[in-house]
Amino acid sequence: MKTLREYIKEAEENKVAIGHFNISNIEALHGIYNAAKKLSVPVIIGVSEGEKDFIGKEEISVLIKMIRERDNYPIFLNADHHYSFDSVKSVLDNNFEAAIIDAVKLPIEENIIVTKKCVEYAKELNQKEGRDILIEAELGFIGQSSKLLEIIPEDVNESTMTLPEDAKYFVKQTGIDLIAPSVGNIHGMVKGGNPKLDINRIKEIRESCGVPIVLHGGSGISDEDFVNAIKAGVSIIHINTEIRVAYKEAIEKYLKENPKEIAPYKFLKNGVDAIEKVVEARLKLFNGIK
Ligand SMILES: [Zn+2]
Repeated sequence: MKTLREYIKEAEENKVAIGHFNISNIEALHGIYNAAKKLSVPVIIGVSEGEKDFIGKEEISVLIKMIRERDNYPIFLNADHHYSFDSVKSVLDNNFEAAIIDAVKLPIEENIIVTKKCVEYAKELNQKEGRDILIEAELGFIGQSSKLLEIIPEDVNESTMTLPEDAKYFVKQTGIDLIAPSVGNIHGMVKGGNPKLDINRIKEIRESCGVPIVLHGGSGISDEDFVNAIKAGVSIIHINTEIRVAYKEAIEKYLKENPKEIAPYKFLKNGVDAIEKVVEARLKLFNGIK
């Protein structure tokens, strides 16, 4: 099977993007995988530090590998937003295919040191174990968590957007494989609608930095912006908040209608179906499937 790096390259050539969806339990994994399989497109499962601790890092690593091998299916595992070298090291030691080192709160030179350390460790493992690990880093601030927001956070604005020359410098200094810039995207979903993406900036960053672009905070972005962002150079898109909302609301609705139900496989089923629906629609859009 091709590696994730090769699937990303292929996505870029075909002007499509690979969907990246977060989970914290096996039900969500089922919902996402059902949708991907239906459309026969590669998919990335993401777990943040909190999500990973909840599901278990060994557990999720074994599950994804098992599905990939059993079904000969391109499903990959990414450690989403890990905040230190030690936490990145621990997931790579547990066979994750990719990791995001998020040291964006540090001054740029310190960020470079930590990020570079992760890249070097991944290279060491690639050589020793014949793997093809990808290291991603965020540059420019896009807010912190996947939740529902009343307004656009004050600390995310034009001044925190990534400059193409900074992206170029950062990639050169660190050797990262993927970059997650700030281009008008934010983590979470804003009540009155998410801000618009700066499509030109995406294009300029892709051209200047030379590595594929990952768009974080995909929830709440308009279809039109997604299509233009992919054309401009985005190869992976992260969706988390939307599936969290769909999951919670579907289970809430079921339990309201069936207050006596106690079998988890019954009252969680609606949540799985709701995730599948959201993911299917997103994957269709990202992959240009009508
Ligand atoms: Zn993110």
